[in-house]
Amino acid sequence: MLVELKLSEIAAIVEGRLIGSDCYVKGVSTDSREDLSSKLFLALVGERFNGNEFASKALEIGAAAVLVSEPIPLEPRIEVTDTAAAYRAIARHVRRHFSRPVIAITGSNGKTSVKDWLAHTLSLCADTLKTQSNLNNQIGVPKTLLGLAVQHQYAVIEAGTSFPGEIEILGNTIEADVVVLTNASGSHLLGFGSIEGIAVEKGKLIETARPNATIILNADDPSYEYWKGLLDGRSMLNFSFADASATLFAKKLEETVAGSTTTLTYQGRDIQLKLDRPGKHHVANAMAVALAMLALGFEIDRIINSLKHPEQVPGRMELLTAKSEAAIINDCYNASPKSVEAAIDVLSLYKEQSTWLALGALGELGDEEVTIHQSLGNYAAKAGIDHLITIGPVAQHAADGFSLNKTSKQVVYSCQTKDDALNILSTLDSRHVILVKGSRSAKMEDIVNALKI
Ligand code: ATP
Ligand code: MG
Repeated sequence: MLVELKLSEIAAIVEGRLIGSDCYVKGVSTDSREDLSSKLFLALVGERFNGNEFASKALEIGAAAVLVSEPIPLEPRIEVTDTAAAYRAIARHVRRHFSRPVIAITGSNGKTSVKDWLAHTLSLCADTLKTQSNLNNQIGVPKTLLGLAVQHQYAVIEAGTSFPGEIEILGNTIEADVVVLTNASGSHLLGFGSIEGIAVEKGKLIETARPNATIILNADDPSYEYWKGLLDGRSMLNFSFADASATLFAKKLEETVAGSTTTLTYQGRDIQLKLDRPGKHHVANAMAVALAMLALGFEIDRIINSLKHPEQVPGRMELLTAKSEAAIINDCYNASPKSVEAAIDVLSLYKEQSTWLALGALGELGDEEVTIHQSLGNYAAKAGIDHLITIGPVAQHAADGFSLNKTSKQVVYSCQTKDDALNILSTLDSRHVILVKGSRSAKMEDIVNALKI
């Protein structure tokens, strides 16, 4: 932890009551399976677990103290009413001792991609703390901030949301110096009601950022003007594929299966950007990363040079080969409507091979589940995808949308099980390329694992 804190100081920070003797703690942990020596064990309470039950074990294995929300007769202990709020309060206190830049990223798509890419690029020149994998919620954000240490020069934090109000809570913990807002689209519609509701939610990261923060916005997003209205004196840098007046403007985009080439215009200068991974969304993410680095004071040519090789993350547009020699694009890590469209755009670049989309259900779409799946089927048909295989009753709506818009050469299969789909897919040879996609809950990696070498 960046600062050593006494229990009495922590009790004051969390507005709790210290019972027992005072001492310094070296860190805070919420997991009684971790090495807890000299740390404060903080008992989180969830729907399926109650950390208070592990408080006594935590002290037995070396914790210096426990922070609990039940009157357990253990000492030393700090008693509070809400341990999650206490966790955030300690994290914010530690963050306020970090005098270097904290960059927060949110959006419907591309948060992890931008977070990992930015952190990777920054770490080439300085020690950088980042959110591990997808730990972007009310537990993950404080956990990451509590990992701040003296050697860190930057912290790159992903903030996600699954209910209205969550980004505001996270933003108030992060107090960002730089905010990246990738986009707002129909992911996790459930609970937010509309795209506008999602835009409001994401916008809270701007409103909770420090007053002198720099905000990176996607000028092509329908919510751009709304977000601009939230700046309240903060600086803004933006990127666009359409607006030549944007801070970074991507013109002449050329896409192939091997990657994208574009000319970026920055302050009247044209700069070539060549990425060795396909997909327009990588170019959008590259611009977001570049603007965050400009906000941090890096020089444009150095930034563009360091962006050429995005890190490959497993399950995200990962190129693999099947036992039957078909090419596989494994994008099954997760799916939202926009990310399915982005992946279909990449698949449609394969002109030499016959294209297949194996689609599992997208989750958390609320009332729009049927129409969104239908429109994705429609999108795939119009993009010229040769074959669509849907798996399960929800994804079947995409098959319906595909059928309505396909030509006589395009083929659709709606399978009820993954085994049915595998019976077809495992016969495909090197003349075929298969994109595998679906929400986390659809576990489409079962298909990839069965097919790949
Ligand atoms: P989650 O909500 O699961 O945390 P995320 O916002 O972190 O998602 P990523 O994990 O980076 O997003 O990417 C999820 C999917 O979206 C991947 O399939 C990826 O290829 C695609 N994707 C990444 N960036 C973009 C973008 N800018 N626009 C559209 N799709 C994108
Ligand atoms: Mg993520």
